[in-house]
Amino acid sequence: MKKKIAFISGIGGQDGAYLAHLLLNKGYRVIGGERRSSKNTYWRLKFLKILKKIEIIDFELNELTNIIRLFNNYNISEFYNLAAQSFVHSSFKNPITTSDTNGMGVLRILETIRTLSPKTKFFQASTSELYGNSSSKSQDENTSFRPRSPYAVSKLFAHFITINYREAYGLFACCAITFNHESPLRSEEFVTKKIAKSLVEIKNKKINHIDLGNLYVRRDWGYAKEYTELFWKILQQKKPMEYVISTGESHTIKEFVEEAAKYCGFKLKWEGKGIKERGIDIYTNKVIVKINKKFFRPTEVNTLKGNNKLIKKELSWKPKCNFKKLVKIMMEYEINEFKRN
Ligand code: NDP
Ligand code: GDP
Repeated sequence: MKKKIAFISGIGGQDGAYLAHLLLNKGYRVIGGERRSSKNTYWRLKFLKILKKIEIIDFELNELTNIIRLFNNYNISEFYNLAAQSFVHSSFKNPITTSDTNGMGVLRILETIRTLSPKTKFFQASTSELYGNSSSKSQDENTSFRPRSPYAVSKLFAHFITINYREAYGLFACCAITFNHESPLRSEEFVTKKIAKSLVEIKNKKINHIDLGNLYVRRDWGYAKEYTELFWKILQQKKPMEYVISTGESHTIKEFVEEAAKYCGFKLKWEGKGIKERGIDIYTNKVIVKINKKFFRPTEVNTLKGNNKLIKKELSWKPKCNFKKLVKIMMEYEINEFKRN
């Protein structure tokens, strides 16, 4: 029997790599889309030992011809759109390219699916950033959206255009509203990876301290490897619909630092207020954490906590990896990685 073809845009990113690994194990032929770049974007695929098993093609979301060529060349059963300008902070600096990639990029795909391949199932990676500063204690599929960054606004367009193409044209198209998900494969600009890597470097005297922004925001952090399994499951449902993916646990950046610091033998006490706040290791009296204005955003999302009742019920899922376990996975990786290099 011919293998089903899955296409993953953003294959070189964190989620793309984990999802590709899963789909290969499930027997799919995996085509990955990656835009040409001067950076080494394949380290995650190499880490998971799958680079040679994937067919990688040029895929730029801002270039309609790439999308049309893809559908002319392959009979794609499942399209996972994981490509995005995914860093909220950058979206304030590059609002137009962010909107084009994250918003219009999705419309380009949907319109191509509608005209060339209406049987292709489409998955869109929506985000908890859509909620902004929600007045609800926890956010579910019915909580209203109030985005607070160009990133979130672009994802709002993507979210609703996906639903619109489903309703208007009967496409099997759906979105997962995923809360922050992390792993050793996370990019270094995101706060969890930055903290994990920097603490190990401080421990090994490669750097003196870490500069962070707002320590008091709360995020619902899950494990990316687990979440990508749900991306696949969502496309296997009878009916396309939206699901929140979250752990239901919410922690501050400060709590992440404190938990991660334990793995390096640090115990932090905090002194000062606002921009002058410092995290000091009580054993050595060394300043480990400083606050730097550079890492604050013009508008912030203060608290995110997902309500995952629907996905638990309908997909018989529950998160296996809680906050402490996630920190452990990330810290153990960084400690070993430092030894390797
Ligand atoms: P990453 O940033 O790790 O990966 C994004 C991928 O998209 C990269 O491979 C990147 O390539 C690619 N990309 C960026 N711009 C373009 C473009 N114009 N054309 C084609 N490819 C492009 O993100 P994640 O894997 O963490 O996230 C996957 C998706 O899930 C994203 O859409 C993200 O917004 C969304 N999401 C993620 C969350 C999380 O916590 N991880 C939470 C909620 C939603 P390059 O390396 O060249 O930049
Ligand atoms: P986001 O939730 O998608 O924006 O993921 P990030 O990991 O980039 O940021 C999570 C939260 O950490 C945001 O509210 C940031 O303002 C906050 N934060 C505090 N200090 C930093 C920092 O140094 N880097 C990043 N990326 N975020 C920080």
